[in-house]
Amino acid sequence: MAYYAGVDLGATNVRAAVADDEGDVVSVHRANTPNGPTGIAVTEAVLECLREACDAADLDPTQIRAAGIGSIGPLDLAEGAVDNPANLPDTIDRIPLTGPVGQLIDSDSVYLHNDTVAGVIGERFYSDRNPDDMVYLTISSGIGAGVSVDGQVLSGWDGNAGEVGHMVVDPRGRRTCGCGREGHWEAYCSGENIPEYAKLLAEDAGSLDTQLPLDDPDFSAVDVFEAAGEDEFADHVVDQLAHWNALGVTNIAQAYAPLVVYVGGAVALKNEHLVVDPIRERLDDLVFNNVPDVQLTTLGDDVVLKGAIASALTGGTGDRTSSIV
Ligand SMILES: [Zn+2]
Repeated sequence: MAYYAGVDLGATNVRAAVADDEGDVVSVHRANTPNGPTGIAVTEAVLECLREACDAADLDPTQIRAAGIGSIGPLDLAEGAVDNPANLPDTIDRIPLTGPVGQLIDSDSVYLHNDTVAGVIGERFYSDRNPDDMVYLTISSGIGAGVSVDGQVLSGWDGNAGEVGHMVVDPRGRRTCGCGREGHWEAYCSGENIPEYAKLLAEDAGSLDTQLPLDDPDFSAVDVFEAAGEDEFADHVVDQLAHWNALGVTNIAQAYAPLVVYVGGAVALKNEHLVVDPIRERLDDLVFNNVPDVQLTTLGDDVVLKGAIASALTGGTGDRTSSIV
């Protein structure tokens, strides 16, 4: 039996899993992503997580044949590292990944992807419906997509293809994105940005009543979604979010012609009916091409971890027929 490993490196958690040659998960280990002092501390946390997952599976790390990593970006693919991650403290400049992981498992077969690319690789490998043309879209603390076209998972020369959250959806640019530019999809609809966007909407909501704690420093996206259906203004916010999300997915559909768009990320996973369904309902009117099927991810919170495992099993492609077992 050959074994494979997957790593999901996020801004808050790191998880490592060991799987068998069918892709069935044998063990998982989770730890908090360290806040520093440097990127090397994050590398060490990844290695420790992998060691623990191997321990739990009764394996020595060198028995792992290949590993996949789905990570926060931006990536430096040539160096196999994360380069100045946006969602971690500034002291974390560089997180080496493929080299140290390769040393640990004594293998050159280590595949690094940004997390959404790992997501589409996971859907391709594990989903019953996995056409060659499909997209994995995350709506979470950020927004991004992993794209498969003609059976090829798009990565881009630097590994940063699919940063669709930084597409302009609002030419009026009323919201400034975390990247410093204006009108980006993510600046309206990511979990981090929804509260500020709601406050902006409140300025011209006129007579709409609301019980939302707009001025509370703890006001969050969760408050908006929880109040939907009972609060006129919360409904208005949810409707506006659906508008931008539908425009974003329309742009994706026009650019890549996917048959399926799988949607994941905390905002979508926790609010399927308020976030995913309205996108589907609006696409017929917006998309000129064939309208893709929009579905909640089949892999839940595990989509990136599963994608990393699938990458290890398939030489970085997610294509079951290219399995290197
Ligand atoms: Zn941006």
